[in-house]
Amino acid sequence: MTSLWMNDAQVPARLRLTPGSRFDTVVIGAGLTGLVTALLLAQNGIQVAVVESRRVGLGTTGGTTGKVSLLQGTRAQSIAGRHGVGTLAQYLAANRDGQDWLLRFCDEHGIAYQRAAAVTYAQSEREKRAVRAEFEATRAAGLPTELIDDLEAPFPVYGGVRLIEQAQIDPMAVLAALAAEVESHAAPIYESTIAQGVHHADGELIVQTEHGDLAAGTVVLATGTPMLDRGGFFARLTAQRSYLAAFRVPGPVPHDMYISAGQPIRSLRYHPTPEGDLLLVGGSGHEVGRTDEAAAHADELLDWTAAWFPGAEVLHRWSAQDYHPVGELPYVGPLLPGQDDILVATGYAKWGLTNGVAAALALAGRLTGKPPAWSGTFTTWRPAELRSLLSGAKANTAVAQQLSTGWLRMLGGGSASMPEEGCGRVERHGLTPSAVCTVDGVTTEVSAVCPHLYGIVRWNDAERSWDCPLHGSRFAPDGTVLEGPATKPLARRAVLRKDV
Ligand SMILES: Cc1cc2nc3c(=O)[nH]c(=O)nc-3n(C[C@H](O)[C@H](O)[C@H](O)COP(=O)(O)OP(=O)(O)OC[C@H]3O[C@@H](n4cnc5c(N)ncnc54)[C@H](O)[C@@H]3O)c2cc1C
Repeated sequence: MTSLWMNDAQVPARLRLTPGSRFDTVVIGAGLTGLVTALLLAQNGIQVAVVESRRVGLGTTGGTTGKVSLLQGTRAQSIAGRHGVGTLAQYLAANRDGQDWLLRFCDEHGIAYQRAAAVTYAQSEREKRAVRAEFEATRAAGLPTELIDDLEAPFPVYGGVRLIEQAQIDPMAVLAALAAEVESHAAPIYESTIAQGVHHADGELIVQTEHGDLAAGTVVLATGTPMLDRGGFFARLTAQRSYLAAFRVPGPVPHDMYISAGQPIRSLRYHPTPEGDLLLVGGSGHEVGRTDEAAAHADELLDWTAAWFPGAEVLHRWSAQDYHPVGELPYVGPLLPGQDDILVATGYAKWGLTNGVAAALALAGRLTGKPPAWSGTFTTWRPAELRSLLSGAKANTAVAQQLSTGWLRMLGGGSASMPEEGCGRVERHGLTPSAVCTVDGVTTEVSAVCPHLYGIVRWNDAERSWDCPLHGSRFAPDGTVLEGPATKPLARRAVLRKDV
């Protein structure tokens, strides 16, 4: 399940952290948000270090579809519906600045990207209403979108809304150049280092990591969902996983970037290679850890592509997750009201290539005293937040339900047999639940209780991982943290069988 981008990436391994160093700002997370923030700060003479739990790009950015677009599915009508057209216009201004910055960076560093039109299309009569609503919302906010009747596509289409002159990138090519640029400003990037906590001591911040502490004046959490629970962002975000695949197809590949207006989401783009264009298809998403049929979601995409692009050959399959804010706008600013030394950026709803750069511009502007004009739209604690907390309460009802059903599922007790290859199940051994799975001939048992907020993990048969339904933490079969808000592994219990 390696993404097309990660497969082709040429990103050298980076430093291990030396404990005890001090920086003006420590940025946690080396995805797009973290690296752009670090670069902007370093360019302003601020001493920065970046701490990354895995490798540069191994978070969501390395698994994205790579569309850099202001037409974003049906986001405009959701934002205008919740906050009004004025706020939508500000949101789009922020995204335009993010898009301009990113494409300028590509131009200046010789990184190839393609200009392409973005289209939100209706896959049924019912979705036509959402297409028209997107057209009206974007037009009201000043985007020059147009309605179209048809697409150059082999699948059924009931019209769409189109915006020309958008772009698509290879995100790993961008991250590789960003990381090199950050380091050229003497700002270290510490990989394979999980940040486990941040606290105040003697007037500064201490970033605790698995390899020792760093001191900082300011900390930026660019970790997708924040790895600190203070601020309760985990309760204002839902973690959503989607699947992607890259295909070689016998016929022509459409050159516009498509996304459906309704479910199941189908998102398409082309990717040029010396051997001809590849077709990328994404979608079939679900909330993290809330399905027993992840593999079926992934297969659904392949079946759909085979039906409409006969002869399509799968070259890469992967998946990734992003965080949807209950208030619809990204959360960018102080972790807690009035506390300006720990800043956070999250909640891009799968449109982080423009929003993530905009967030970096807002955070760097805040720290250098030059905030962009639209920065008030990207806050963490706006008065309307109280309204979205009501939806947050709804999201949390779902979380509470998952919490209790997870624990109730445990009443059944254990099983004498080992799970088959590629399978996993949660069972009760004594008082506590265990997660038992077999991968590559090795059967392992780890605690089934997520160390973040005690959800019971679920087996993900598409990616052979343990996924928490509460806030999206994911773990490898041996319990190692893969992503999400957890900073500690699932407690290891035993290796039950090794057939290798
Ligand atoms: C399937 C899919 C398709 C998408 N397609 C598009 C698209 O076409 N266009 C678009 O605009 N957006 C798209 N997005 C959204 C976009 O990719 C993301 O919003 C964006 O990449 C997020 O960047 P980030 O830097 O905030 O997070 P990430 O790239 O996830 O970076 C966060 C980093 O923090 C690290 N980290 C986490 N916890 C810790 C810790 N405790 N200590 C140290 N490091 C830590 C992670 O390892 C990771 O590297 C898509 C998302 C998905 C899921």
